[in-house]
Amino acid sequence: MICSLCPRKCNIDRTKSSGYCGESEDIKIAKYSLFMYEEPCISGEKGSGAIFFSGCSLKCVFCQNYDISSLDLGRTITPNKLASIFKELEDMGAENINLVNPTHFVKGIIEALRIYKPNIPVVYNTHGYENEETINEISKYVDVFLPDLKYIDEKLSLKYSKCKDYFEKTSKAILLMRKLKEDKFDENGMMKQGLIVRHLILPLCTYDSIKILEWIKDNLPQTKVSLMAQYTPYAKASEYPEINRKITKREYDKVVSKYLELDIDGYVQDRESSSTVYIPKWDFV
Ligand code: SF4
Repeated sequence: MICSLCPRKCNIDRTKSSGYCGESEDIKIAKYSLFMYEEPCISGEKGSGAIFFSGCSLKCVFCQNYDISSLDLGRTITPNKLASIFKELEDMGAENINLVNPTHFVKGIIEALRIYKPNIPVVYNTHGYENEETINEISKYVDVFLPDLKYIDEKLSLKYSKCKDYFEKTSKAILLMRKLKEDKFDENGMMKQGLIVRHLILPLCTYDSIKILEWIKDNLPQTKVSLMAQYTPYAKASEYPEINRKITKREYDKVVSKYLELDIDGYVQDRESSSTVYIPKWDFV
């Protein structure tokens, strides 16, 4: 397949080689399990059925999942095996199937979902740097979009994620997700369909966090926003002294105040969440 699944548009044949994401078209995963660390309406009481895909089309320097996103650790599986994992997680009581960083494997994931469509919601959990064509296609198979909105400032996205057009592409993709999925919850408050936008506060970047919250308020009214404070230096963050620390109380308070002032609906993580506890132990490495 000549791949242009994401905005990197490598245009290479992934049956023969790999592109920026580092992966051929064979699905590779590093772990699947019930996972309790998503938003309450996703994790619920039993946990989200998370499947962590190897490789990444964004590769942020501070990635908390660096070992699988950039070091290519993981195990190759077939679409049939992925379909059986959907079923296994469902049988374990998962609230949903949570596809973590799925963009570069959309083709295989669609094949697996055609083999077995779970009777629980399917969550598309992405860094947000997506093509509208890919979102349109995958929206036929998934119920909940859970994208990040990491930066507005192109200097930041270029420096930390090697793409100048992060906000241009991601904002369009998220607006499309909003159009495609109206929010629906069950009687227990679990999200059955819809959109939650995540934003991780980075050290020394509160001006950008505030711009992002203002953009969301203006462009995505009624959308739930998950404001995350769990940033902890990892991977190549040590090469960037300004982000080689956790966020301060002052930084946290500044962004949370704006969130409250704008009367945004959603979730705000405690600053104490900053820890490597959120980094899963990889099984297939
Ligand atoms: S999915 Fe991978 S190969 Fe395809 S365009 Fe994106 S980075 Fe390139």
